[in-house]
Amino acid sequence: MPRLLARRRHRRDAAAHAADAPGEQRIVDLQRRREALTARAAELQWDLGGLVYEMVIRNRVRVDVLVRRAAVLQDADAELGEVQRILRSEQTGATGACGVCAAPHSSGAVYCWQCGSSLLPQIRGDEIAAP
Ligand SMILES: [Zn+2]
Repeated sequence: MPRLLARRRHRRDAAAHAADAPGEQRIVDLQRRREALTARAAELQWDLGGLVYEMVIRNRVRVDVLVRRAAVLQDADAELGEVQRILRSEQTGATGACGVCAAPHSSGAVYCWQCGSSLLPQIRGDEIAAP
């Protein structure tokens, strides 16, 4: 699945870039990301609904296909939720990137929404560094 790899690589580059960028630019990037993810989640949901309908009228419901498609929607939803949490907590700072996959996370996150790694040691480090 080269497309998925390309997407992850792009996301890592974007996260690395956001870390260098000033706070304002980072917020603008996150707002753009939120808009893109909102549109993507809506489109995926629409497609999934259409797919279920097509399967039902043909009396050939493929649960494995539906589960795969739902998982893609769930990923987009999870990232959207995290971006929204980051934007909400942007005033208080204390956001970061996953040490394993570099996905952005909010201050309250315990596990990385993307790769499932624990974020607790990172959060503790941030709190110690803060004045
Ligand atoms: Zn991660």
